[in-house]
Amino acid sequence: MRWDDFRSSDNIEDRRGEGGGGGGFGFPGGGAGGLGIGTIVVLLIIGWVTGINPAILIGGAQQIGRGGQQEERVDPQTQQRRRQQPTDDAGRFAAKILGNTEDVWSQILPNQTGKQYTPTTMVLYTGGTRSGCGSAQAAMGPFYCPLDKKVYLDVSFFNEMKTKFGVKGDFAYAYVIAHEVGHHIQDVLGILPRVQQRQQQASSKREANALSVRVELMADCLAGVWAKNSNDKWNAMDQSDIDEALRAASAIGDDKLQEQSQGYAVPDSFTHGSSEQRMRWFMTGYKSGQTRSCDTFRAAGAN
Ligand SMILES: [Zn+2]
Repeated sequence: MRWDDFRSSDNIEDRRGEGGGGGGFGFPGGGAGGLGIGTIVVLLIIGWVTGINPAILIGGAQQIGRGGQQEERVDPQTQQRRRQQPTDDAGRFAAKILGNTEDVWSQILPNQTGKQYTPTTMVLYTGGTRSGCGSAQAAMGPFYCPLDKKVYLDVSFFNEMKTKFGVKGDFAYAYVIAHEVGHHIQDVLGILPRVQQRQQQASSKREANALSVRVELMADCLAGVWAKNSNDKWNAMDQSDIDEALRAASAIGDDKLQEQSQGYAVPDSFTHGSSEQRMRWFMTGYKSGQTRSCDTFRAAGAN
């Protein structure tokens, strides 16, 4: 993938090297109660491309009320430092991919849906930091917080993709960023709040998980929509990039992750979708380039 010509986003908040993050490094929503350590471990593993802080999906409104909306107060120097353009490779890459998602979505979202695109901010951090959804930890993987509208990414995660999942290549990493931006698109379109409401009303964990899978597959599809429209205009990808994205999507299917962590897969507990589903929905978005092709809720019957 040739990303060097992409425009760098200004919406990067570089908190790397700050350490800490205001304390509170427990598992976010540690009060969820009844979650055995096994569950938490699985959640942390699965959580890596969650896009949404698992605590919100598990804990519902109570935790949103408790952990949310606490904007961290920072002094002007810190603020200024965070707003400087990253000069290292990983930081530059993240800023350019984010910039490209902005250039694509600000054009196609109004055209395809009639909604204006308001960009998300991407927080780069190391180890842990505070988010509007509770404390962020590298172990959770990248996620999107709907309460402060920011994407949280510890770039060491890209190394983890390489070592733990055997997935490498810059397009695979770009796909992860585009997936998180996909959650922001869902937020802009008003889909996330509606799903969260339905999850709180869900009569079973299984039903809530099924809703989560729809949200995640939609984000995969939206990542595909970005890739298609970006490539039409910038021509920065080739077939090997798409293969990389598919390998990434496959490696992080719930079935693969569960088999890896517990030796077997339990479909009802899936929160992101199987490897096959994740690859299929990415390709659905990539082939059509159309936001409306990503209606995973309408397609639920067909699975
Ligand atoms: Zn996600």
